[in-house]
Amino acid sequence: MIIVTTPEASEAQIAHIVERIEEWGFKTDISRGAMRTVIGVIGDDAAIRVKPLAAIPGVESVTPVLKPYKLVSREFRGGNHSHVKIGDVTIGEKELVIMSGPCSVESREQIIEIAKEVQKAGGRILRGGAFKPRTSPYAFQGLGLEGLKLLAEAREATGLPIITEIMDTKQLEMVEEYADCLQVGARNMQNFSLLKEVGRSRLPVMLKRGMSATIKDLLMSAEYILAEGNFKVLLCERGIRTFETYTRNTLDLNAVPVLKRETHLPVVVDPTHGIGLREHVATMAVAAVAAGADAIMTETHNSPEMAKSDGEQALLPHEFQDLVARVRKVAEAVGRSL
Ligand code: PEP
Ligand code: MN
Repeated sequence: MIIVTTPEASEAQIAHIVERIEEWGFKTDISRGAMRTVIGVIGDDAAIRVKPLAAIPGVESVTPVLKPYKLVSREFRGGNHSHVKIGDVTIGEKELVIMSGPCSVESREQIIEIAKEVQKAGGRILRGGAFKPRTSPYAFQGLGLEGLKLLAEAREATGLPIITEIMDTKQLEMVEEYADCLQVGARNMQNFSLLKEVGRSRLPVMLKRGMSATIKDLLMSAEYILAEGNFKVLLCERGIRTFETYTRNTLDLNAVPVLKRETHLPVVVDPTHGIGLREHVATMAVAAVAAGADAIMTETHNSPEMAKSDGEQALLPHEFQDLVARVRKVAEAVGRSL
């Protein structure tokens, strides 16, 4: 349910509305617009509906959210968009953010060298998998705890906050100790116990779209995380499976404007997994920016031919620099900055 206050509502009245709702056992989410404040009421819908919300002074309107996804819907924040902070980097503002790093953390030298290259080129967040979801059980599965420690060392060396994947509820405590943002990968988009667990984390979460998931499925999965109290969620389009086999996946850029319309959550695009072919990653990155993405995530490797995973799609450092330069130009053309 969404409460919109009158333009004249005083701070004391807004505080009273919140207090009353919380006394009834519901939670609130406040977004302030130029004229009105929007108060989202979180809790069991049937129980909220019977409360006389419209009778509280300062309330102008009370509207149910009719969409199946409620907390993630754009209406819930009165049409405003949310910002999510990863370390000291904010995503969802005018300034675009580029995250990059290797698919997997492989060694101290590898992650620190790549982190420095990413930072030098203008990347703001370092990525790297310590727990890797691999199609084959015989493929490199990641360094685990050791990989997390190396990521923390790379953060220390560069100041870049880190994002890394969590695959299992049992890993939360360990990953939380090192990461600045949790990544829930495509293969786990509908792992509902994991979604609930990260929903109770203090860290932001980037939720990647499953390879066979619809946009609505993605929003419903994000709803699980917000329903547990964690509103610091980013949605990531990373390509879906189609009949096309020339590219690794089909990067669904339709999802970007649709998500920006439907949800207040920031939208990230991962063109690397989306197309899977190194030579086309930068082109799809600029296309994503033109489509309205708030952030881009790519894979960069100092020696792709030696990479333990996804070497064929990783950019070399100088290619990543070119990507950043191209993104900067397109960002300016669409009223963003970098
Ligand atoms: C990754 O980011 O390396 C990854 C495994 O991504 P996805 O979950 O999109 O396949
Ligand atoms: Mn990868």
